[in-house]
Amino acid sequence: MSGNSEKILGIHHVTAIAGDPQKNIDFYSGLLGLRLIKLTVNFDDPATYHLYYGDELGHPGTILTFFPWPGAPKGRLGTGQLTVTSFTIPEGSVDFWMNRLRNHSVEYQGPIKRFNEQVLSFSDPDGLSLELVATADSEESKVWRTGPVDPANAIRGFFGVTLSEQGYDPTTSLLTETLGFRSVGQEGNRTRFESGTGGPGSIADVISDPHAPRGVVSVGTVHHVAWRTPNDEEQKSWRKKIEDSGLNVTPVIDRKYFHSIYFRESGGVLFEIATDPPGFTVDEPADQLGTRLNLPPWLEPLRGEIEQALPPVTLPSIAKIR
Ligand code: ZN
Repeated sequence: MSGNSEKILGIHHVTAIAGDPQKNIDFYSGLLGLRLIKLTVNFDDPATYHLYYGDELGHPGTILTFFPWPGAPKGRLGTGQLTVTSFTIPEGSVDFWMNRLRNHSVEYQGPIKRFNEQVLSFSDPDGLSLELVATADSEESKVWRTGPVDPANAIRGFFGVTLSEQGYDPTTSLLTETLGFRSVGQEGNRTRFESGTGGPGSIADVISDPHAPRGVVSVGTVHHVAWRTPNDEEQKSWRKKIEDSGLNVTPVIDRKYFHSIYFRESGGVLFEIATDPPGFTVDEPADQLGTRLNLPPWLEPLRGEIEQALPPVTLPSIAKIR
């Protein structure tokens, strides 16, 4: 038995709802400089794109994904939601990013100091709340080297996520007692938790906000967060542990690029635990990631119909644009 030796290694990916897919691609790939690593469809709803962004190869801990729902109503930020997604930038890159956001007419707040880091806050074109967190503890390996942002200033994957909760105890006890997170600090109504080896990519802040409205998932809000597990065997033991804690958890679902289980924490946020392998090079070579519509084998026979149902998009140029 592997017992309690398993650790959540950190954030695997965050999945959110967008409006227009082209605006989403232009913002995340063109402005923020994340690589579009996979253009596919929602396997549960093939008339909807599923856009994946990440570092050069889409390593776990760098993956932000979107279901674009053009024309759908805006969601509402509130409790029972992942309300802020934070990326890591190098310590000396705050001025670079303030200039870049200003030059692209993106309003931002800050920088403010939170714990030991400088934080810039802004929203994507659909109102999704984002942060850039400047820290000395950032790895340059996690960047798209031929992207539009110089590797010296580029986003290095996730820093952390913020969960807004009406109550506080059920969520924090799930994080610490079941999932093995550690409480590492508190500022105001924000409590910081870390998983795995800690640091950027492993952080979950829980905000207790009893008077905020309940969140509504739609355009401009996060759908779920996935936590990392290294393999199928550990995922199986997580599944048992979560079931034993009294929560409903799905069977293992094959998402082609990882294997997933889903469960809703008591506060309302949808959690997933996803395996690191097999990754995004399972169906296209590293240098061609995200350059064509990729369908799983069971949807390939429907390619014609699917392509007709999807709004056309212009993909980011592979050439360097600085
Ligand atoms: Zn997911």
